[in-house]
Amino acid sequence: QQDPRIAGISSAIRVIPNFPKPGIMFQDITTMLLDTKAFKDTIDLFVERYRDKNISVVAGVEARGFIFGPPIALAIGAKFVPMRKPNKLPGEVISEEYSLEYGTDKMEMHVGAVEAGERALVIDDLIATGGTLCAAVKLLERVGVNVVECACVIELLGLKGRERLGDRPLFVLVNAT
Ligand code: AMP
Repeated sequence: QQDPRIAGISSAIRVIPNFPKPGIMFQDITTMLLDTKAFKDTIDLFVERYRDKNISVVAGVEARGFIFGPPIALAIGAKFVPMRKPNKLPGEVISEEYSLEYGTDKMEMHVGAVEAGERALVIDDLIATGGTLCAAVKLLERVGVNVVECACVIELLGLKGRERLGDRPLFVLVNAT
């Protein structure tokens, strides 16, 4: 039995074929942000799920994890930690390399933003292959943080991103292909 708010969220997400390159069906959440009910329902669904789970850290993945993470963090009384693309954070960082379709990328987090033993939620807009979320999880786990769950608005099915996360639970609102 699906929450009745999901259908409205799903229909507010625009799909743009062949962006940024041929063959990609781009899931555009910016149209959902324009729909005040759909945006609020999205945040509410995450807050309802995480408010009583003793989470002290919401880690948001650049860039669209920066849209959903902070309102959730504020509502559940957790801090927000940005997981950024390389050379953006000014302080001392730890970084994790991960593979892309062509080549590699890196994700960085400020040293001292989190402490060993903290409980974290990792959030992004979408999981495809899972490489991005996995890098964020590994960064946190390397410094002793317990990643309670990963959460995304959208899961692209068929790319096995969920498998790549191993035992770590993944919660999503909307499935897409
Ligand atoms: P992945 O590392 O393969 O799971 O890719 C996830 C990251 O790439 C997320 O930060 C998404 O915002 C972005 N992304 C990948 N595929 C899409 C897509 N079809 N539509 C929108 N964003 C995507």
